[in-house]
Amino acid sequence: MDLCNIDDIRAVLGRHGFRFSKSLGQNFLTAAWVPARIADSCGVDQTGCALEIGPGMGCLTEQLSQRAGKVCAIELDRALFPVLEETLAHCDNIEIVQGDVLKCDLAAICREKFGDAPVYACANLPYYITTPAISALLASKSFQAITVMVQKEVAERICAPAGTAAYSAFSIYIDYYADAEILFDVPRNCFVPQPKVDSAVVRLTPRSTPPVPVCDEKLFFSLVKAAFGQRRKTLANALSSVLGGSLGKEGIVQLITDCGFDARVRGEKLSLADYAALTELAHQRLD
Ligand code: SAM
Repeated sequence: MDLCNIDDIRAVLGRHGFRFSKSLGQNFLTAAWVPARIADSCGVDQTGCALEIGPGMGCLTEQLSQRAGKVCAIELDRALFPVLEETLAHCDNIEIVQGDVLKCDLAAICREKFGDAPVYACANLPYYITTPAISALLASKSFQAITVMVQKEVAERICAPAGTAAYSAFSIYIDYYADAEILFDVPRNCFVPQPKVDSAVVRLTPRSTPPVPVCDEKLFFSLVKAAFGQRRKTLANALSSVLGGSLGKEGIVQLITDCGFDARVRGEKLSLADYAALTELAHQRLD
């Protein structure tokens, strides 16, 4: 059986009376080169293990199984379990776990299923949970690399440098925790049902330490969030929700100019290192 062949897909799903759920982001791959390339790029080999989110009917799971020592796949939709039992019957190193990736303890699952082996996360992520799923994968600190397919615009946001249109609070969040790169694009006609957007595969390699030291992470991320929450405002105005009560408008402008920026600068012009410097000075002045 070819798990990306549209006739095989329809036949298997029909046998099990399966219907695609839009709300679960179920767009399955129909181009065999895509799961093969994701599995090739994720870095896993026989000495390592793969954790997959959302196996669907198993096309990426099968590719990972051929390269990894062991694969564990977390699937939310119980209706896919009899399908996966049939499609992956020939693979003996795969375990499917029922659960919601956003509610699972990913670190505990990795420890329980893989022990001390290096683990690589892989997924064709459902669009509706892209950001929280990536955050959960990074926060678990369990992976050598996280290789995921996401909406193309999200991939661009993840990897965007400061000052570009796609640059966002999420770009800084990712850059703080990981080295990110876009590996390749995947057009919308590679899926059934066909989504309205194109996709891209990104690989995140978690950092052992942040690229720049940050004295107060909570303050750093609240400044970044406030700065991008109101993109059309100047940085000084945007930061008033976090710092206005303590520093006042004039104190915020002073802070920004003391960091070497124009008083009317916008948040999207500042790099991660700039926000780290701003945090350092704000932290001192809030004491
Ligand atoms: N890997 C398959 C492929 O590439 O053809 C399917 C990918 S499909 C875009 C997303 C998969 O994630 C579906 O199987 C869906 O049921 C599953 N899913 C949706 N929400 C989930 C969640 N919160 N936790 C785990 N799996 C989820």
